Order: sequence, then structure tokens, then C-alpha cells
Amino acid sequence: MNDDFPVSPPRAWAEIDLTALRSNLAVARQASGVALMAVVKAGAYGHGLEEIARALATEDLAFFGVANVREARQIRHAGVATRIYLLGPTWSAEREEIVARDWTPCISTLEEAREFDALAAARGVRLKVHLAVDTGMGRGGFLMDGLAEILAALERFAGLEIEGIGSHLPSADEDEEFTRHQMAGFAALIDELGGPARFRWRHLSNSAGILGYANGSCNLARPGLMLYGISPLPGFQQQLRNVMTLKSRVTLLRNLPAGHGVSYGRAFVTNRPTRVATVGIGYGDGYPRQVSGHGGEVWIEGRRFPILGRVTMDQLMVDVTGCTEICEGAEVELFGANLPVSEVAGHAQTIVWEILTGITPRVMRCYLEL
Ligand SMILES: *Cc1c(COP(=O)(O)O)cnc(C)c1O
Repeated sequence: MNDDFPVSPPRAWAEIDLTALRSNLAVARQASGVALMAVVKAGAYGHGLEEIARALATEDLAFFGVANVREARQIRHAGVATRIYLLGPTWSAEREEIVARDWTPCISTLEEAREFDALAAARGVRLKVHLAVDTGMGRGGFLMDGLAEILAALERFAGLEIEGIGSHLPSADEDEEFTRHQMAGFAALIDELGGPARFRWRHLSNSAGILGYANGSCNLARPGLMLYGISPLPGFQQQLRNVMTLKSRVTLLRNLPAGHGVSYGRAFVTNRPTRVATVGIGYGDGYPRQVSGHGGEVWIEGRRFPILGRVTMDQLMVDVTGCTEICEGAEVELFGANLPVSEVAGHAQTIVWEILTGITPRVMRCYLEL
């Protein structure tokens, strides 16, 4: 951008370990025992959609799962030929492209089906679609009641091939009894609709479903979070490898006297002479401001240090009193192998999915094969 002054290293960056990603995919494959749809919505959970799609292009996936047509276009743009499944509903104006590109939508209403059928017929093709069923999520799909008639109606559309049936687990990481009941209900539903052979693809499980439950009625699973190295269920974390490490650097080191406020609102005031490291990352990078005052820590030179006061847009302050080996420019880990992102999410009173997808475009993504 300015050829005369080219050096301006990033203040915050994310290192993304593609070897760990593939290792986590292997865990999903092993744990589910079925074919996989790698869920790469929301920029592959903040890891970078095109790069992650390219990294997994040769992994024998049945599908990539995306939220919408924009994301499907990004995968296409990355030159990846793996089939694309649209997890969410589509706009009417997007459907011609979906048919033309042979992306696979899930169907929640007969109106959607009718339009896809007409568009496919106009092109002289048959579009593969999946029947979406609401078995408890309350977000999309047909209700279970009367589904046999719905399927019969869908089968009359000559332009559509009802290739699959899918549903979603709302509570696999929170309510085991409900989830077992839901899985049994889905299996019974498939039997009622003609048995497993009726649908080329039958899918229900997200990461928690894959890790925590045996699910005999399905032959496809949809892992998201676990691919990125985080288990939504306790007890499985050690099988997964950390993928994203969020890093920054110490930009300033200063000594503050006792009684000096730190950051906005002076929510923290030093009670002793304090050595304060200023770090070049803030909520403008997606590091959650909500950790302020809730025990947030960072990792520098092999140790944890507490965040002082409020996280600001571009910077945060850390107490490094008594630690003489830290110098300006020292690398800081905000989360990663040494400081689990689940801990940051806990301090921010939110979920890991929100932290990962909240890392903003200002944070440069660096891809490594470790
Ligand atoms: C996001 C999503 C997934 C992946 O969920 P994880 O909990 O991240 O594994 C699977 N299925 C559907 C329908 C989704 O929307």
C-alpha cells in the first residue's frame, strides 16, 4: 500500500494449523463411522472459508455444509469440487443459481420445492434435494406429523430427486435424554417413510451428536466445531488438536504507581506499583470485551497473566509485575493450545462458536502445517 514504508507487521493474527484440522476430521470420521459433511459456514467458523475448503478438498467428504449461497460461491471460487449443501433456507432469487450449479438445498416447504422443480424442469435437469425435518430444533424443516403425505407430494415433482433426509439436534451437549429420544424418533420416522434404503443420505448429528451418541439410522454426519479442535462435550477434548491460535504482541511496557486507574471507566485501579504490558488486540479484532473483570488471562513467555480493566477496541492491558523477561514485541497468546478458547468463552459468558466466528477480518489468518 505504501511502497516506501512497507514494514507494518500485524498487531493481531491467527495461526491456523491445517494438520490439526485434518487430524480432527479423522477423529470425526472414526467416531461417527459414516460419511461426513464438513460444516464450513461462517467463514469456516472464523478460520477462513476458502482456505479451509481447499485444505479439505482431497479428504473424501460427501459435502461441505454452508449457510447460504454467498458461502457456496466462495467454495466454488476456491476451485473446490466437493458437493455443497445449503444448511439454511434460500431466497427465491437465489434458486436459479442453485439449480445451475447443482448445489443441494434442504426443503422445508412445498413452495420451495415447487420453485426448484420448475427451475430444474426448465433446464432439463433433476435437482437433488434433502427433506428437512423438524424433530425438535424449531428452526426449519417440515414437522414430523403428516410427513408421509409431504414426501408423496415431493415425489410427484419430476424435477426433484429426494436424495436425503436431515434433521438437527438442539441439545446434544445439554440434554442426553431428549437427544436419545430425538434420535430414536428420527430412526422411526425413516422406517415409516420407507426405510433407510429410501434415502441415499440420512443425517442428524452435529459434533456433540457424533462424539456422545451412537446413531445407527444415519449414514452421514455434520461435524462443525470439533473439526476446529473443540469438543462441545467434556471427556473428548484430549482427542482433538487445537487449530486456531489467536496471537498479538506486547506493544508497550510501563510502570504504574499504586492508585492508578487502568482502562475505560477506571474499573481497575492498581493497589501496588504495577508493571503493565499493553497488547495490540481488542474487541475490534473480536477478542471479547465481556471478559473484562471476569478473570480473563493471556499467555506470554510460558505463563499466564491477568487482563487489567476493560478490553478496549484495539488494545488491552496485562499485569506483568515481577516478570522481567517480557519485552516490547513479545508474543502474546490470547487463546490456543496453552489457553483453551473454551476458557475465554467462559470468561465472556458465551459459547466457543461465538468467539471463533467473531474474530474480525482485521486479524490476519496465517496457515501452517505443523
Ligand atoms: C452448524 C451446524 C452443524 C455443526 O454443528 P457443530 O455443533 O458446530 O458441530 C451441523 N448441522 C447444522 C444443521 C448446523 O447448522
